[in-house]
Amino acid sequence: MRSSSAASLLIAAASIAATSTLHAAANVTKGHGQADAEFKLDTIAPPATNDAATKATFTLVDGEKDRGSAELSVLNDGKVPTGDDQPRANFFFTQGSQGGRIAVDLGEETPIKSVDTYSWHNGSRGPQVYKLYAASGKAKDFNAAPKRDTDPKSVGWDLVAEVDTRVKDGNGGGQHAAEVTNQGGKVLGDYRYLLFDVEPTSKSDPFGNTFFSEIDVISSRGPAIERLKVAEKIVKEYKSKDGKFRYIINSTKAPELTDWSDKELVPVIQEWYPKLVELMPSQGYKAPDVVTFLYDPTIGPPAFAQGGQITLNAKWFAGELNREAKGATVHEMGHVVQNYWRASQTNRNPKPTPGWVTEGVCDYIRWFLYEPQSHGAGLGPDRAEKVNYDNSYRTTGNFLDWVVTSKDKDLMQKLNAAGREGKYEEGLWKEWTGKTLPELNTEWKEAIKAGKRVQK
Ligand SMILES: [Zn+2]
Repeated sequence: MRSSSAASLLIAAASIAATSTLHAAANVTKGHGQADAEFKLDTIAPPATNDAATKATFTLVDGEKDRGSAELSVLNDGKVPTGDDQPRANFFFTQGSQGGRIAVDLGEETPIKSVDTYSWHNGSRGPQVYKLYAASGKAKDFNAAPKRDTDPKSVGWDLVAEVDTRVKDGNGGGQHAAEVTNQGGKVLGDYRYLLFDVEPTSKSDPFGNTFFSEIDVISSRGPAIERLKVAEKIVKEYKSKDGKFRYIINSTKAPELTDWSDKELVPVIQEWYPKLVELMPSQGYKAPDVVTFLYDPTIGPPAFAQGGQITLNAKWFAGELNREAKGATVHEMGHVVQNYWRASQTNRNPKPTPGWVTEGVCDYIRWFLYEPQSHGAGLGPDRAEKVNYDNSYRTTGNFLDWVVTSKDKDLMQKLNAAGREGKYEEGLWKEWTGKTLPELNTEWKEAIKAGKRVQK
């Protein structure tokens, strides 16, 4: 599983002396790693937001933009992608093509201190391969937009550097940056125009055209450069009242939810996690004593649990703070305590617990124990013919509450122990309640029809 918060992993950091064919003795510094969205690489600073390129004009001179690509303006907007496969946040040449040429007009002659290019993709579209040309525009035969059949050097351009950030091992995926500078801190030259002659990272791979995220041009005239800020980590830790459990809330990617979590969500967690642990014990089982709550704005479902971690959809939560947010969290804590994943570690031939049981238990907890006042899982008489015990979520929650209150008050412990140990089977219902599952279903539906399964 990929983790976007993985520690910065530096693979290449090299200064390559320019060859004699280059006009200036340029240095190319390379950076490559798996950092967060802000390109926090060890060798090259994050992208600038007020560099000379922000006001420059970018033009496609040769080659074709991919249909999925963003416009060229994405290269100097001071913004970078938030993930490693975001076509709409990058510029890239069309699939299967051999790249092309991009011209940059800075509007005036500029003493260029460095040119920095940033790219990001999880595969072969990550690395960068290009030649950088520069021109003052003063040459008699100057051509501001030379196609690929023309050697730029023959029409007034200097070759400044050849950049290649490909790595030997792996597919090269990750964040890449290249910085072109002169020796000893001197400027590269006084130039108004730049030309990027871009090649794919592999001539045979149709997906080898680099996802370029940002291009910066730093002038020695200033201004003082401002850079994208690397997000401050917001990780808070809480303890249960009795000190047995620790809860970690990571709102780095949703700072706006930090305060709400602290004031509103943590009290619910502190009250309910120990209750759920007590509700669902089994022999030799210890529920996770550290639970991590991670806000992530990029996931699809409202929330999901894996082991001791609950991932919360930051966008969905922001819209549900006074509605479903807390209840959804209680439901996910139910999964952490259930720990049915454990069955395969403790049982050689674990029987799978059906999904309607797993989800029904967590919705029973949520709608009948945590927030019965919401009346979220009641079933009116008209529903009797339409529902079954295994409809999952809140319908099964209603069924489980009926079994608990009318047949077996210890059902939760028994059902969860069976799931956790990989021993769930339909025959257990008769053992626990004296009735088979179909018999229970019929009786429950009669209770619904009689108006006894609404939530008052
Ligand atoms: Zn669930």
